[in-house]
Order: sequence, then structure tokens, then C-alpha cells
Amino acid sequence: MKRVLVTGGAGFLGSHLCDALLARGDDVLCVDNFFTGQRENIAHLNGHKRFEFMRHDVTFPLYVEVDEIYNLACPASPVHYQFDPVQTTKTSVIGAINMLGLAKRTKAKILQASTSEVYGDPETHPQPESYWGKVNPIGPRSCYDEGKRCAETLFFDYRRQHHMPVKVVRIFNTYGPRMHPNDGRVVSNFIMQALSEKDITIYGDGRQTRSFCYVDDLIAGMIAMMDSPEPFVGPVNIGNPCEFSMLELAQKIVTQTKAKSQIKFEPLPTDDPRQRKPDITLAQKELHWQPTIALDEGLTKTIAYFKDLQTA
Ligand code: NAD
Ligand code: UDP
Ligand code: UDP
Repeated sequence: MKRVLVTGGAGFLGSHLCDALLARGDDVLCVDNFFTGQRENIAHLNGHKRFEFMRHDVTFPLYVEVDEIYNLACPASPVHYQFDPVQTTKTSVIGAINMLGLAKRTKAKILQASTSEVYGDPETHPQPESYWGKVNPIGPRSCYDEGKRCAETLFFDYRRQHHMPVKVVRIFNTYGPRMHPNDGRVVSNFIMQALSEKDITIYGDGRQTRSFCYVDDLIAGMIAMMDSPEPFVGPVNIGNPCEFSMLELAQKIVTQTKAKSQIKFEPLPTDDPRQRKPDITLAQKELHWQPTIALDEGLTKTIAYFKDLQTA
């Protein structure tokens, strides 16, 4: 049986990853400091024979014995990562050093949950992994973008210096059940607003684009990367290349919820990327992976989750 550590395991993606690993028979150690994660996300795993939870901050050393590490610990939404930006950089950078040190000692394989934010406000569209990005090093998003870029550097330097089996995935906007209802991300905001008949807040003119991946597809891609043959290190884009403007997204959510909400335009946040869409050619070739769940179908499941939250 494989002993797998998931840092950030009580978060949105981490909790789905724990579910998927347990379902295939792994022994899962979930580490989280509950900064943005929630107990409810892993409550259903309490008492599971192969699941263990440890409350711990990855900016401090961690000594455990494991075979694989998925490093997801990091606040992910702009509202959350800008709340304490110094802690965000510490989590990305010191957290990566500690988890890489742990992987080095235990000879574990380690995967980094990086992000499409490493491309910044991209001048190349769609974004292939070979694109180096256009990132502001001193803006309000920099704690996250540069923290994640530095973490990638550390993964590749540990590999070059210590010949370690590392893997890097660049995750594009992902949505689904267990997203934090108040994390300010566009999908959760629009759904919460629509369900409570409040105005839908579109930042800027709403013509900026994102490409949204349903959580189950994302988790399948992440596990496929961990399981891929040793020489394939990445970075590899994991996301859904179907691109939508925020206006289109708002329209879909209003239609599905049958909300009477009006659209309200608000100022665009600083350094908000204008467009984002993954080039997933590499994932298709190396991982034989591609997303299968269309936005309409994924939104239906996500809306159902938020409806249940409201009535719970
Ligand atoms: P999330 O906020 O739900 O999960 C992050 C988890 O990390 C939370 O449970 C939080 O409590 C925990 N955490 C934060 N700082 C920690 C620390 N110092 N020590 C231990 N735990 C800590 O966010 P998510 O959407 O599940 O994102 C998970 C990972 O995927 C993050 O690394 C994020 O950068 C990356 N990612 C997510 C997306 C997305 O669209 N969801 C996109 C790109 C990258
Ligand atoms: N570390 C850890 N768990 C381990 C091994 C190391 O948390 O099982 C931390 C350790 O605190 C160190 C970091 O990982 O600060 C980097 O470890 P590495 O061995 O690369 O560096 P060194 O210990 O030589 O500074
Ligand atoms: N956005 C919006 N209204 C909201 C929340 C977000 O128009 O209530 C926009 C935001 O400005 C950005 C896009 O939606 O252009 C995606 O934002 P999110 O925070 O979900 O992700 P990220 O910007 O990190 O991709």
C-alpha cells in the first residue's frame, strides 16, 4: 500500500484528491492548517481506516514517512492569497523547501500544484508550457504568482542537484463542489449571487476570459501526472481549453438558476489577466489525459452543491 501525503488536503482540490486516492486503495495523510480549508470538506473521511489528518503549517518542518507527496498547501483565490501576502509567499517557498526536504529524506516522489498564474497576463494565447509568462513582480498578485514561480524553480533545482523524482502541474481555473462560498472566485461568487437573487458582479467589462475545468477532470489529470513515467517531469498544463468570457459565464449561471439577478459592473482588479486558456497538447500526449466534463454539466453539479449549502 502506498503512503501518500496531501498538503492542503482540507481544501477544495485537496479534499477531492484525498477521496480519489482513498478510492484506489492508498493510505492518505492529509496535512492542513485550516487557513482556507474547511473541516466539512474532510468530515466524511473521519473514521476511514486508511485516512489520517494532521493539523500542521507547511512553513514548519514536517517529519513523517511517506512514498508520495502532493503539495497543494497554499491559499488559491485572490481574496485569500492577498489577505496575508507575506504568509502566501512563505507558504509557497518555505513550504516547498520543507516538502522537498521531506521528499529527499524519504525518497518520495513529489508533485507540485503550480498554477496558470505563472504565465501572468499572457501575451501568448493559448498558453503552452514553453511560454515564460508576463508577471508583475511587485503587484498585489505577485505574492502568489512569484511564490509559485519560485516553488517551480526549487522543484527543478532539487531535481538537478539531488536527482529527485519531481513532477510539476500548472492548474488552470478549476471549479466544483467544495469551493469556498466566500473566496471571491468568479464561479462561487456568481452562483452565490444568483441563488440569493443579488446582483451579479462583473469586474471590468466582462470580456476577459478564463477556461474552467471541472474538479473531477482536474484530479484525474493530477493523478495521471504523478503516475507518469519518471523522465516526464513537466511542467504540464492541466485545465479545460474551452474558453468563456465572464459575461458568458454570468449568462450561463443566470439561465441555470433561473435567477432574476441583474448584472452590475465593478472596477477590474489590478493586474487581472485579460485572457487565459491552456494549451493541453503536452498533457494529451504524455498523460493521455483530457477533460471530459463540459461547463454546463459541471455548473449544474456545482449549483446543486451550493443550493444544499444554503439549505443545510
Ligand atoms: P484551497 O484554498 O481550497 O486549498 C488550499 C489548502 O491549503 C487549504 O485547505 C488551506 O487551509 C491549506 N493551507 C494554506 N496554507 C497552508 C499552510 N501554510 N500549511 C498547511 N496548509 C495550508 O484552494 P484550492 O483551490 O484547493 O487550491 C489547491 C492548490 O491548487 C493550491 O496550491 C493552488 O495554488 C492550486 N491551484 C488551484 C487552482 C484552482 O482553480 N482551484 C488553480 C491553480 C492552482
Ligand atoms: N525537512 C523536513 N522534513 C524532512 C526533512 C527535511 O521538513 O523529513 C525540512 C528541513 O527542515 C529543511 C528543509 O526540509 O529545512 C530542506 O531540507 P534539505 O535536506 O534540502 O536541506 P537542509 O536540511 O540541508 O537545509
Ligand atoms: N470576476 C468577476 N466577478 C467576480 C469575481 C471575479 O468578474 O465576482 C472576474 C475576475 O476579475 C477575473 C475572473 O472573473 O477576471 C476570474 O476571477 P477568479 O478570481 O475566479 O480567478 P483568477 O483571476 O485568479 O483567474
